[in-house]
Amino acid sequence: MYLPSFQYLAPKDTGELASLLSDHGDKARILSGGTDLLVQMKSPGLRPDFVIDISGLDELSGINFDAKTGLVIGSAAKLDDIMEMPVVKEKYFALWQSIETIGARQIRTMGSLGGNICNASPAADTPPALVALSAEVSIAGAKGDRVMPVEEFIRGNRQTALKKGEYLKSITLPVPEKNSGSAYHHFRVRGGMEIAMVAVAVQVVLEKNNKTIKDASIALGVVGPTPIRADDAAKILVGQKPSEDLLQTVSQACADISKPIDDFRASAEYRKEILQVLVEEAFDEAYIQVAGDSK
Ligand SMILES: Cc1cc2nc3c(=O)[nH]c(=O)nc-3n(C[C@H](O)[C@H](O)[C@H](O)COP(=O)(O)OP(=O)(O)OC[C@H]3O[C@@H](n4cnc5c(N)ncnc54)[C@H](O)[C@@H]3O)c2cc1C
Repeated sequence: MYLPSFQYLAPKDTGELASLLSDHGDKARILSGGTDLLVQMKSPGLRPDFVIDISGLDELSGINFDAKTGLVIGSAAKLDDIMEMPVVKEKYFALWQSIETIGARQIRTMGSLGGNICNASPAADTPPALVALSAEVSIAGAKGDRVMPVEEFIRGNRQTALKKGEYLKSITLPVPEKNSGSAYHHFRVRGGMEIAMVAVAVQVVLEKNNKTIKDASIALGVVGPTPIRADDAAKILVGQKPSEDLLQTVSQACADISKPIDDFRASAEYRKEILQVLVEEAFDEAYIQVAGDSK
């Protein structure tokens, strides 16, 4: 469990970060909080020659909300600092809940949002919430910036869209429409530090009457190698008033497109059943935020 030897590099700005990444290519790994990277480097396999620490870069650590353009979170912003921003709890509740569930305070103080996304673990908590909230990532590289939705950025188990020499710059969440609410629900056996077995994030927008559903998005987590955006299931909700039958149809549609694994923690069949419960629970919580009442 000792760290292998490596050269530690701490760029003073993003210009130097870009040139270090271009010089060292695949021999380098970015370190943000290190709560995933250092654990992986202590296990056999990951042996970078260079570790490039971005935690001191103010350019990557900002968290800024603008009422027109939305919330922009620097990739190295600490999870705990994001949670502490009142606007996150107020307007992006699903993201707030997904962060609150991560590890313990010590992990959230060290760990960053960018690290949680770039690590691309199928069990990571924030990606489903970010997908349901239609977040986009901004990638910086020698050829300029690229922007894409989170669901396109995470390509597979531990795989992202980052190309050689690129790094994740920021994450942008649009301003939620009026009359909208969101929630993130996950299932784990123990209450303590354990990764989720199944997770669901829902965002719902209601018409002015605060009853009929104007728009909805649903993202499923830990039931496939990447978060699944359940657009067809979400469409079933549009134009409807919630009812038990409607939610059962939606949760069944989510279970049908999920691809959970069978492992020592739970069978695929069990995960699909839990998924359906979580879809209904997360919907209820998001809906109540706006309607102020259960369906
Ligand atoms: C005890 C413990 C409990 C945990 N519990 C949870 C949990 O409940 N839920 C959960 O989702 N996670 C959990 N984690 C995992 C981890 O804490 C999170 O994924 C955290 O957000 C990672 O952030 P970091 O800044 O520490 O990433 P790092 O470890 O610094 O980096 C992770 C990966 O992302 C890459 N990277 C980081 N930033 C960038 C960037 N800007 N551009 C390109 N690549 C980048 C790194 O090279 C590395 O491959 C836990 C970890 C521990 C040790």
